[in-house]
Amino acid sequence: MLKHSEVIIIGAGGAGMMCAIQAGRRGRQVLLLDHAKKIGGKILISGGGRCNFTNTGAGPNNYVSQNPHFAKSALARYTPSDFIELVREHGIRFHEKKLGQQFCDFSAQEIVNMLQNECEKVNAEFQLHTEIRAIEKLAGDSESPRFRVKTSLGEHTCDSLVIACGGLSIPKIGASGFGYVVAKQFGLKLIDRAAALDGFILSDQDARRFDGLAGVAFDAKITCNGITFHEAILFTHAGLSGPATLQASLHWHTGDNVVVDTTPHTDIFDWFLQKKKAGNKSLVKNLLSEVLPSRLAERFCELYFNDPRPLPDVSEKELKVFCETLKAWTFIPKDTVGYSKAEVTRGGVDTNELSSKTMEAKKVPGLYFIGEVVDVTGWLGGYNFQWAWASGAAAGEVV
Ligand SMILES: Cc1cc2nc3c(=O)[nH]c(=O)nc-3n(C[C@H](O)[C@H](O)[C@H](O)COP(=O)(O)OP(=O)(O)OC[C@H]3O[C@@H](n4cnc5c(N)ncnc54)[C@H](O)[C@@H]3O)c2cc1C
Repeated sequence: MLKHSEVIIIGAGGAGMMCAIQAGRRGRQVLLLDHAKKIGGKILISGGGRCNFTNTGAGPNNYVSQNPHFAKSALARYTPSDFIELVREHGIRFHEKKLGQQFCDFSAQEIVNMLQNECEKVNAEFQLHTEIRAIEKLAGDSESPRFRVKTSLGEHTCDSLVIACGGLSIPKIGASGFGYVVAKQFGLKLIDRAAALDGFILSDQDARRFDGLAGVAFDAKITCNGITFHEAILFTHAGLSGPATLQASLHWHTGDNVVVDTTPHTDIFDWFLQKKKAGNKSLVKNLLSEVLPSRLAERFCELYFNDPRPLPDVSEKELKVFCETLKAWTFIPKDTVGYSKAEVTRGGVDTNELSSKTMEAKKVPGLYFIGEVVDVTGWLGGYNFQWAWASGAAAGEVV
C-alpha cells in the first residue's frame, strides 16, 4: 500500500522528534520512521539515565565542525532557554549539575515522554520497527511528491524528507551509518567520521607504565590541539576516561599529543620549594601524595624521578625538571576507545552541502539532514542535545 505524508522523518531520536513537533505545529502532516522498537533510545541512556538535556552556556564555540559558523543560526533561533521552557511546561523537575549542565532530577524517560506527548499533540505519527530499504527521488514538480521511501512495512511518498538517524556511536541500541549512505546516494560530501567523547587508549608502552592504576581519579587540566578542559581524569584498564579526557578525545586526531597538568591548582615547584626551605625531610613521593592520589604520586615518582629520596637530598634543578613533567605530562594515545563507548560521532554530512538556516541539502530540494548525522559535534555537557533540538527546530520551521 502506498501512503503519502507531507513530511517523513527517518529517525525518532531527539532531532527527529523536535523537527516533527515544530513541523506539526505549523500544521504539517508528519510521519516518523525508525528501525528501533522504541523511540528516543539514546535519550534514555543519556546522562547516566537522567539526560543532560541542554547546557545554558551552549554557543557555537562549544562545537567542532569543519565550518565553525554553520551552527550559529540554528543555535541562535532555538536556545537552551526555549528547551528549558518546554521542560518546565511539562512539570519536569531538573537541576544544574555543574558548568551549565541541566539534568532531570528523576529520569530521562520524562524527556522522551515529553517529546512523544508534543508529537501526539500535533498528530505526528510514529512507525517503529521499520527497515528503510530504499529512497528514491521522484520527478516531483511543486504539485507532486518528491521522494519515495520503501520500507519493510510498505511504501511511502513525501514532499519533504528529513534524515535524523544519528551517527555511529553505540550500535547496540540502533546506531547505523544510514544517514551517511543517504548523503552519498545524493552526492553530498562527508567529513571523515570518528568516535568521540569516548576517552583514550594508551600506547602499549604507556599502558605498561601506568598498569594497575585503574580506578584512580584526579582533577586535571587536559589540553589537546590548543583546547584545554579542567575536570576529572580517570585511569581505566586500557587508558584514560573521565570528563576531561572525554572532552579531549573530541579534539584528538591520530598522532596528536595530549598534555596534562596534573596539579592545576598548585604551582607545584613553588610548593616543593617552600617545603624545602621550611626544612621538610619527607620523601618526595609522600609529599606529592598530598596533592595527587598516592598511587599516582608514587608512579610518577617511579617513572620520572629518582625516588625514594627525602626532599633535602633533591636539588632545586632536579625538582624543577620533575615539576615541569607534572605540569605538562605529555603522551600520544594509541587511539580513542571507539564507537561501543563513544557518546558521539565526530564528522558527518559536510555542512557546506546544507543551508545553515534550514538544514536543507543545497543540491537536493526537499531533503534535510539534522542532528548528529551532520558535521557538528558538541562538547560533553548537554551540547549535543542542544544541537539536536536546534537543528531539528530549524528544519521543522520549513519542511
Ligand atoms: C551513552 C550516551 C550518553 C549521552 N549523553 C548525552 C547527554 O547527557 N547530553 C547530551 O547532550 N548528549 C548526550 N549524548 C549524545 C546524544 O545522545 C546524541 O548527540 C543525540 O542523541 C543525537 O540525536 P539525533 O536525534 O541526531 O540521533 P539519535 O538520538 O541517535 O537518533 C537517531 C534515531 O535514528 C534511528 N535510526 C538509526 N539508523 C536507522 C535506520 N537505518 N533506519 C531507521 N532508523 C534509524 C535510531 O534508532 C534512533 O532512534 C549521549 C550519547 C550516548 C551514546
